Amino acid sequence: MNREFEAHAGRAATPRGQSARSAIVVGAGVVGMASAYALARRGVSVTVIERRDGPGLEASFANGAQLSYAYTDALASPALLRHLPAVLLGLDPAICWRPSLDRDHIAWLMRFLRSSTANRFTANTLAGLELGLESRAAMHALIEQHDLDFGHSVAGKLHIHATRTGLDAAARIVALKRLHGADQHVLSAGEAIDLEPALADHGPFAGAVHTPGDEVGDPQRFCTAMAALLGRDYGVSLRFGTRVEDLGEAGAKAWVQTGSGERLMADNLVVCAGIGSGPLAARFGLGAALMPVKGYSFTAPEGPAGLRVSITDVSRKIVFCPLGGMVRVAGMAEIGARSTAVDPKALESLRSGARTSLPRAANYDQIGAGWAGIRPMKANSLPTIKRVSPRIAVNIGHGMLGWTFSMGSAERLATLVLEKVE
Ligand SMILES: Cc1cc2nc3c(=O)[nH]c(=O)nc-3n(C[C@H](O)[C@H](O)[C@H](O)COP(=O)(O)OP(=O)(O)OC[C@H]3O[C@@H](n4cnc5c(N)ncnc54)[C@H](O)[C@@H]3O)c2cc1C
Repeated sequence: MNREFEAHAGRAATPRGQSARSAIVVGAGVVGMASAYALARRGVSVTVIERRDGPGLEASFANGAQLSYAYTDALASPALLRHLPAVLLGLDPAICWRPSLDRDHIAWLMRFLRSSTANRFTANTLAGLELGLESRAAMHALIEQHDLDFGHSVAGKLHIHATRTGLDAAARIVALKRLHGADQHVLSAGEAIDLEPALADHGPFAGAVHTPGDEVGDPQRFCTAMAALLGRDYGVSLRFGTRVEDLGEAGAKAWVQTGSGERLMADNLVVCAGIGSGPLAARFGLGAALMPVKGYSFTAPEGPAGLRVSITDVSRKIVFCPLGGMVRVAGMAEIGARSTAVDPKALESLRSGARTSLPRAANYDQIGAGWAGIRPMKANSLPTIKRVSPRIAVNIGHGMLGWTFSMGSAERLATLVLEKVE
């Protein structure tokens, strides 16, 4: 089922029959950096334009750090639909909806509801799995070839299910995903505790789904390492502190206009601007596709029961990720929230939920200022990777799994961009 993955062999030559091309990539988050790499290693001359003063400073800054290559379950699901009344009544501290009468907002919600049937949930989850497995192959090829320091490890992942009903439902989707290449197993609570002793502190739970091959890595360190690699080994030009205000095509070229009025041209333009893609892609009818879904994280020193395995507490919707002596804890989904300000009440809710779930995994008295970011979310939980005009493509809408999907999405994007345009 995996698309054949082209082996990395240094800086690949320009495909036969094509002249050297140039491309502008807008956005230096995980998706933009991976896209720049996928293009540059195929011989494209790449310029990255980023409004912030460095790479990975928005949604890719301090996310949950999980590379969940086999845990790609779509957010829109029959289970979430059943849970919707609790969400609308504000009874779930981990997920809430900021209502709006905006037409795009309502259209997105309608698409989300339509994506919540059992059939669509299954189809979206399996499509995510295919992209996840491609991403893992692309990430492994990258780190085999280049020595990148971003705290990467194959920690494996445990999804903890509090109830037997939840575990049985998870077991059904595990059985299906196994047929499509996922290495996942259902464990009893005892087996899960044997694997991760910190779970002995967790209240009673029915069992867990174990994904031994899932990985972890710090996304911001990845962006920084990639920026250095791209500039040094691939001749990529990185322009930070430069906002793209407008974009378009003129003849056989694409162009961007920056905030200072400068116009840059290239053979191709790729928009990887996370939630900032909405305004840029609006003219192509894609503005309404992205819903901002705000989340929080904090990073604390590991506690007396430090983690070996990455954990997701499914009922609390909190992830715990071991990152070299520290623990990254992430969660919360505020649908429709656009500000990245850290609300102290929301951060405290995340901290107290985490402390109740795994009391000795981290030192919860040292969580620092916390962080909030905006996931650029599509209703079907799958990114849009497509050409929107002959010279302009988008790689957007990675939602809850942008770090996981970044490398595979970039490979798909580069293949698409290098297809011959008539
Ligand atoms: C709390 C939280 C936890 C998460 N946990 C995980 C996880 O464990 N695993 C996982 O796989 N995913 C996770 N995610 C999701 C993941 O972080 C995102 O999907 C991913 O970072 C999106 O990457 P991106 O490159 O598309 O966007 P971004 O990282 O936001 O990058 C877009 C870049 O474009 C720039 N930009 C925007 N507009 C312009 C413009 N006009 N001109 C120039 N530059 C522009 C921005 O400054 C930004 O740097 C989490 C997200 C959150 C918020």
